[in-house]
Amino acid sequence: MIEIQQLNKWYGDFHVLRDIDLTVKRGERIVICGPSGSGKSTLIRCINHLEAHQQGDILVGGVHMTQDIKRIEQIRRQVGMVFQHFNLFPHLTVLENCCLAQVWVQRQPRREAEKSAMKYLERVQIADQAKKYPGQLSGGQQQRVAIARALCMRPEVMLFDEPTSALDPEMIKEVLDVMVELAHEGMTMLCVTHEMGFAKTVADRVIFMDQGQIIEQAPPETFFNNPQSERTQLFLSQIL
Ligand code: ATP
Ligand code: MG
Repeated sequence: MIEIQQLNKWYGDFHVLRDIDLTVKRGERIVICGPSGSGKSTLIRCINHLEAHQQGDILVGGVHMTQDIKRIEQIRRQVGMVFQHFNLFPHLTVLENCCLAQVWVQRQPRREAEKSAMKYLERVQIADQAKKYPGQLSGGQQQRVAIARALCMRPEVMLFDEPTSALDPEMIKEVLDVMVELAHEGMTMLCVTHEMGFAKTVADRVIFMDQGQIIEQAPPETFFNNPQSERTQLFLSQIL
């Protein structure tokens, strides 16, 4: 589904991603963790070209990423993204947030768009809030809307960038529950998160990044019980 080979990226002189190799198969669930500034967000933002890379190859669903806007759009159609700060449009209702791209990008008739928006809003148990504006919802509710909005595009893979780290503790579970459900339905997922309970429950593989490199990757049992690298051990001792 996703193939990344020898990916390198710089911000100016700063070498932010170093020789990243990563393959994600269809249906696989990957958790990425690592210290602040290690390049986790940059890596997943490269996958839908929210960031450009300078070296290496990225293929998504067999489409080779280039600067060509057609290719980038082909890739973006397959990829749903959920951000730490929800990134909903504040001046649009929940329903309109979920319809916008369906109507303007996928050229769906509004009625159809609204129907599928309601279906996904029901799936994240927030259909009763469809007429409200994001600012009228709690953080956990907004994040569930953001997930529904991404699902409306029927992505092949979902990218999550710390979807719960801006939430109050009592709201984390409602978002994680939705993510766990998605995982169990077989969605291909790449999640940057420090929710290690989530990693243990659903991840096929946990990846540890530090200073722009993948230091270690393993199934959760091995990763948590028997981390190989000293840097991973230190990181885990700080967060667990
Ligand atoms: P966090 O856990 O804090 O979210 P991260 O692992 O997601 O961290 P990134 O956001 O990918 O880290 O950033 C990696 C490094 O690149 C950091 O040192 C950051 O300061 C730098 N960086 C990120 N975005 C830019 C940018 N647009 N221009 C220059 N440097 C950047
Ligand atoms: Mg980040």
